[in-house]
Amino acid sequence: MQHADGRFVARRYARDGLRPVCYACGMTYIIAPPATASLPVIGSDQRFPIRRVFCIGRNYAEHAREMGASVDKSAPMFFCKPADAVVSDGADVRYPQATHDLHHEVEMVVALGAGGHELTPEQASPLIWGYGVGLDLTRRDLQALAKAKGHPWDVAKAFDDSAPVSALRQASDVALDGHSVLRLSVNGELRQQTTLSEMVHGVTQIIAALSTLFELKAGDLIFTGTPAGVAALQRGDRFHAELVGVAELDGRVV
Ligand code: MN
Repeated sequence: MQHADGRFVARRYARDGLRPVCYACGMTYIIAPPATASLPVIGSDQRFPIRRVFCIGRNYAEHAREMGASVDKSAPMFFCKPADAVVSDGADVRYPQATHDLHHEVEMVVALGAGGHELTPEQASPLIWGYGVGLDLTRRDLQALAKAKGHPWDVAKAFDDSAPVSALRQASDVALDGHSVLRLSVNGELRQQTTLSEMVHGVTQIIAALSTLFELKAGDLIFTGTPAGVAALQRGDRFHAELVGVAELDGRVV
């Protein structure tokens, strides 16, 4: 467990009257502080703590077209999800309320081990701690309404359980190139598949662009966009996402 000030403590909070107290330092909170969201790491028993979740939109031209949009190469478009929207590999994903059109978007996920702002793509590369594969789950009906009204995308994108992500693999153990394959099957049927060469903005370009908008920090995750083939998920569906040779994600919608 981690304090808001970043210090790491091994011991649990207990209730002292109405105030949760940390036995390690005596710090008190009005309510129990939330647990740190985290992901398992392949080949390690240590976990990767999640600070924020950033996502890029329209980073594969075919997907932009299927959504009736076009790619603006000069201005990548970003949105966010809360860290506690992340669901680990193997866990059930709760079908969200307030939608009749929950869509899958399979994406490569990049995990930052360090941060910075106003970065060049060259400066961005060493910040990458690892890679995984995730689903940017989307309430497509609410997104269509938001687009029509010029409203923000939060209710379409940032709901509970909206970000299933695989265990992460450390970047030093990963060899990715334009031929690397990203894909998703639902109930054994292939729904989305691409090579990374189809990305409009590469990973280091995405990090550099984000760093002109936010000071990036260690623990930030970045969803790097989805290829064509997005479609609806139903309760009972089982999904299998893969960044081939790097990470796999399995889950079920309940
Ligand atoms: Mn997406």
